[in-house]
Order: sequence, then C-alpha cells, then structure tokens
Amino acid sequence: MSIEPPTTTKDIRAAIAKIPRVSLACLPTPLQEAKQLSKALGGPRIFVKRDDLTGVAFGGNKTRNLEFRLAAARASAADTIVMELDQQSNSARQTVGCCNRLGKKTILILEGSEPECIQGNLLVDHLLGAEVRFASSRSEQRRMSREAVAKERAAGRAPCLLNDIPMFDEGSAIAYLECACEIVEALEAQGLVPDCIYMSSSGKGQAGLILAQQLLAGFQVRGITATSEFDIPPRGAEIANRAARTLGLDVSVSPVQIINDDSFVGEKYGIPSEAGNDAVRLFARTEGIVLDPVYTGKAAAGMIEHIRRGDFGSKDIVVFVHTGGTPAIFAYNHLWLECQIEKKGGKTP
Ligand SMILES: *Cc1c(COP(=O)(O)O)cnc(C)c1O
Repeated sequence: MSIEPPTTTKDIRAAIAKIPRVSLACLPTPLQEAKQLSKALGGPRIFVKRDDLTGVAFGGNKTRNLEFRLAAARASAADTIVMELDQQSNSARQTVGCCNRLGKKTILILEGSEPECIQGNLLVDHLLGAEVRFASSRSEQRRMSREAVAKERAAGRAPCLLNDIPMFDEGSAIAYLECACEIVEALEAQGLVPDCIYMSSSGKGQAGLILAQQLLAGFQVRGITATSEFDIPPRGAEIANRAARTLGLDVSVSPVQIINDDSFVGEKYGIPSEAGNDAVRLFARTEGIVLDPVYTGKAAAGMIEHIRRGDFGSKDIVVFVHTGGTPAIFAYNHLWLECQIEKKGGKTP
C-alpha cells in the first residue's frame, strides 16, 4: 500500500517500521538550540541535531544506517564483517563499534600505507579491537578483502563483505528520513517548524531529508558536500527514489530538487579548509560543540556563509545536522594548536 503525500511523521515511521533493523543508536538524538552561535552570527534561530551523539564509539551518522545494513548482514548469519574503507573513516569506526555490540568480529581493509602515528578514527579502530590491514591501492584493497573472506570461510567462519550489501545508500536515506521526522517532531513540541535543514552529505543522507521534505512539505534542504567525487543531484534523486520504493511511499524526487553545494570542499576531500576550520572553532567557542575538519566543519562553513550573506530572517528556524566525525580532530591536532603554542613561544607538534 502506498501513502499519498502530504503525510505525517507517524505515517513515515510506520513505513520505516516494516524494514528489517537492529537497534544500535540512541534515538532520537537531541536537538539543541544554539543561541550563542546565533548571536555571534546575528542570524536566525539555529538548532543543532546532535547525530554526533548516536552513542556508539563517538557516534555519527553511520550508526543510523548500520541499523539497516547490519540487519541485512545478520539475515545472512554472518559472524565476521569485512569492510573496505579509508584510514580516517568514520564509517569504519562506527562499523567496528556496532559489530562489537552484535558480537561479530571485524576486519578492516583500509586504503593507504600504515601511518607512523596512529591517531583519530584509526586509533579508535584499534582500541575497538578490529583486525586492521592496509592496502596500497583500490585494486589491492579489493583483492585483500576477497582473500580475507576466503580465509575466514576456510577457517569455518561465516564472513560477510559489508561493501557488497546494497543497503548502504538506501539505508542512509531511510535513516535520514527518520532523522528528519525526529527534527520535525522535536520542533513541533515547541510549536515550531523548520525553514531550512543543513547537512554534510554526498547524497545518501540528503536523499532521506529530501524525501521528508516532499512528504511533510515546507522546509528547504541544503546539502553541503565534502567531496567532488559525485554528481550529487542525480545520485541523490536516484537513491531517494529507490528508498521510496522500498518503503512503499508514493513520492518521486527529480535531480533539480536536490540542492547540494560543492563550493566548500576546498582543496579536496580530507584536506581541511580555512573556512571549515574557522567554523569548527566558532561552534566550539560559542556552543561547546566539537565539529570535525573533514565533513561537518566544511558544511558549517557553508551555513555560516549563507547566514552572513543574509539568506535568513531573525525568526527563521535553521537546523544544522551534526553528522559526527569528531575523532578526526585528533588526527589534525596541529590545526588547533598552532596559534596558541606560537604565542607562548613553544613549538608546533
Ligand atoms: C560519511 C559522513 C558524511 C556523509 O554522509 P552521506 O552518506 O554522504 O550523506 C557526513 N558527515 C560525516 C561526519 C560522515 O562521516
């Protein structure tokens, strides 16, 4: 049965409830008003959706989609999860944490050579007890993950290569459709409605916010990407439509409806930008909220620029989704210490 838009968060939640899922995240995450940040910017009312507090190993947005992806892995009775990712991957960290909670072993095949200093997400991966291996190239990474799967199987275990579970895109969209419901419900309880929701996304999570926008009507969604790897509007629309079909929701999204700004990537993915780092400092110093320099700092830089150029009135309600990534700050420690240490006549580490 399909649901005609406009609908309610209750209808959407009922559709999501039909999807196989394991409970991993602490939901709903808090929605906090950022009054000092708003004051500092002379801007609209700003609310931060604290998805950095999803509750597993420093939290983040991936814990939400892992509830769907690991349900699919569990259906195949896997006891070992193999994952191909990057060295400072938030996704890797959250996957290992979630697998620990489900009693599964994790093998991470990470691209790049082993760094001298093990910091940030990689440090947490080790702490969580993942088996970590390094691959010199993408093709080597593929080969090594196939080999790991074959070896585990030969040892009598039941491995699953999580990259091959097709729920990553759709799981993220469904997860962020639900996150949008949480935002709308939390504001509704205060007699408010959102005008605009900002989120760092290369399409997957944003697809869910767009579905919510279509189904609930009213608010704008502005994605800001941390990578130039994708043509996001068609990718986001395709993921949104696939998720809508899975959920039996009668709604369709076209690429022109997806607003995603790629002008805050800076040099490239994984390289912090000045505007992004300024945003990290501003959130920290006004709200005590720690963003990260790879994703959320750059997204916040976009929101800040839009507020400063006057996109919003003082009564508008702007929501910033903090997608997590916090442990990455430790891998970029020099960025935060430089000026302070120089002032004291010390050395930059
Ligand atoms: C992975 C990640 C994103 C991007 O999520 P999408 O799936 O592209 O929507 C944003 N922020 C952080 C911190 C992430 O780890």
